[in-house]
Amino acid sequence: MINLRNISIQNKLVLIQVLTSVFVLAIFFTGFIMIDIKDYKERKVKSIQSIAKVLAANNVSTIQFQDNEAAKDILSELQNVAPDIVRAVITDTDGNTFAQFSKTKADSSWFDLGNKTFAFEGRHLYVTNPIVNAENELAGHVYIDCELSELEDMKSKKFGIAGISLVVALGCGFLIAFIIQTYVSKRLLFLVEKMKEASETNNYRLVIKDDGKDEIGILIKVYNDLMYQVNESQQRKDEFIGIASHELKTPLTSIKGYIELLNEMETRQPQQIFIQKTKESTAKLEHLIADLLDVSRINSGQLQLNIEEFKMDELIDESIDSISAGIRTDHTIIRNGTFNDLTVKGDRQRIEQVLINLLSNAVKYSPPRSDIFVNSTIKDEQLIVEIKDFGNGIPEEDKEKIFERFYRARNTSVHISGFGLGLYICSDIIKRHNGKIWVESGAKGSSFFFSLPTIKKSIPI
Ligand code: ADP
Repeated sequence: MINLRNISIQNKLVLIQVLTSVFVLAIFFTGFIMIDIKDYKERKVKSIQSIAKVLAANNVSTIQFQDNEAAKDILSELQNVAPDIVRAVITDTDGNTFAQFSKTKADSSWFDLGNKTFAFEGRHLYVTNPIVNAENELAGHVYIDCELSELEDMKSKKFGIAGISLVVALGCGFLIAFIIQTYVSKRLLFLVEKMKEASETNNYRLVIKDDGKDEIGILIKVYNDLMYQVNESQQRKDEFIGIASHELKTPLTSIKGYIELLNEMETRQPQQIFIQKTKESTAKLEHLIADLLDVSRINSGQLQLNIEEFKMDELIDESIDSISAGIRTDHTIIRNGTFNDLTVKGDRQRIEQVLINLLSNAVKYSPPRSDIFVNSTIKDEQLIVEIKDFGNGIPEEDKEKIFERFYRARNTSVHISGFGLGLYICSDIIKRHNGKIWVESGAKGSSFFFSLPTIKKSIPI
C-alpha cells in the first residue's frame, strides 16, 4: 500500500487539489444527471398516461359494440402519435384481449402492474388506464408498453459529456494545483534545504528571510529563533574552550618544567618511574590542550598558516621516525613509493601535525605487531598520501562523521580513549591547503588519504 508519508508535500498538495475537484465535479454531474432522468421519467409517465386516457375514452363504444376492427384502427394510430409505444392492448372486464397493437410479435402475456397505474421495468414504461362507460361502469382496460430508448440515448450523452468535462477538469485542476503548490512547497523546500545546509556545514548563523504570516512563516521564524539560540550556545561553548585551554596551558607548562627539574634531580629507581608516568600524563594533557586551542582557533578563524616550500618525502620520513620513536607496541611502519623529492607549498608544521595524527590513529586503532603502510602516489597533479592500517575499520555510517569535531566511531570509542578532535583539525588544515582528506575502510582496516596540489597546480592559500 502507498504510504502517504513517503509522498512529497509537493505531490500531496497536487493530489489533494486534483482529487477534491474531481470528487466535487463528479458529485455535481451525477446530481444533475439524476435530476434530469427523474424529470424525464415524470414527463414521460404523464404523456403516456394521457394517451392511455384518450385511448380509454375512445374505446368505450368499440367495446360496447364489440367492434375489434375499429379498436385496432384506433390503436394503430399510436404509431404516428407516439412512435416509442411498442405495444398497446385493450382488454375486457375479464382481462381477455379485445384488440392489440404491437410493433414486435403479438404476445398475450403482460407485465404485472399489480395495483399500480404505471411501472418502470428495464428499458420499458408500462402504463394502464381503466375504460369506464357512460354509466360509470368498468368496461375494460388499456395497457401501454413504451420503450425508453430516448432515455438511454439521453443517459449515454449526458454521461459522455460529464466524462469529458471531468477529464478537462482533471487537467485544469492539475495545472492550477501545480501552480499553487509551487508557491506553498517552494518555501517549505527552501526551509528544508537551509536546515540540511546548517546541519552539514555546522553553520548555525544561516538566517532565512520570509515575511509570510502563515504556518510556514511561523515555522521559519521558530527555526530562525532556534538557530539563534544554537549559535549563541555554540559561541559560548567555543569561547569556553578557548579560555579554558589558555588557562590550562600556563599551569601545565610550569608543571612540565618542575617535572623536568625533578627528573634531573631524582636518581632513585621507584621515584624515576613515577616521574616518567607523570611525564606521560602531562604529555597527554598537553596534546589535548593543544588540540582544544587549535579547535578554538579554527572556530574563530585564527588558525594561521606559515607558508613555505618543503619536500614532502622528507616530512613523511621525519613523521614516521618521530612516531616510531614513541611507539611502545611493536608496530612496523612501512613506506611505499616516493614523491621523487617533489616540493609542496604549505605550512610544514601543520602538515606534519596531520601526518602524526593519522599515524598515531593508525597505531592506536590497530592491533599490536600489525603493519602500517604509508603509500605515496601522484595523480592529476596531486600528491596523495595514504596511511593504511589493519585495525577494526570504521563502520559505513561513521565514515563521513569522524571528520566532525567531537565525533567518535561507536566501535572504538568505548574502549580506546580520545576526544574526536584530531581528524577535525586535520580536515581543516588540509582544506586550507586546497587539498582533500578522506577515508576508505573495510573489514581489513582503514586507509586514510589526503591529497595536496603540486606546486604547479597550487592555488594561493
Ligand atoms: P580520537 O582518536 O581522539 O577519538 P580523531 O578525530 O583522531 O579523535 O578520530 C575520530 C574517530 O575516528 C576516532 O574516535 C575513531 O573512532 C575513528 N578513527 C580514527 N582513525 C581511525 C583508524 N585508523 N581506525 C579506526 N577508527 C579510526
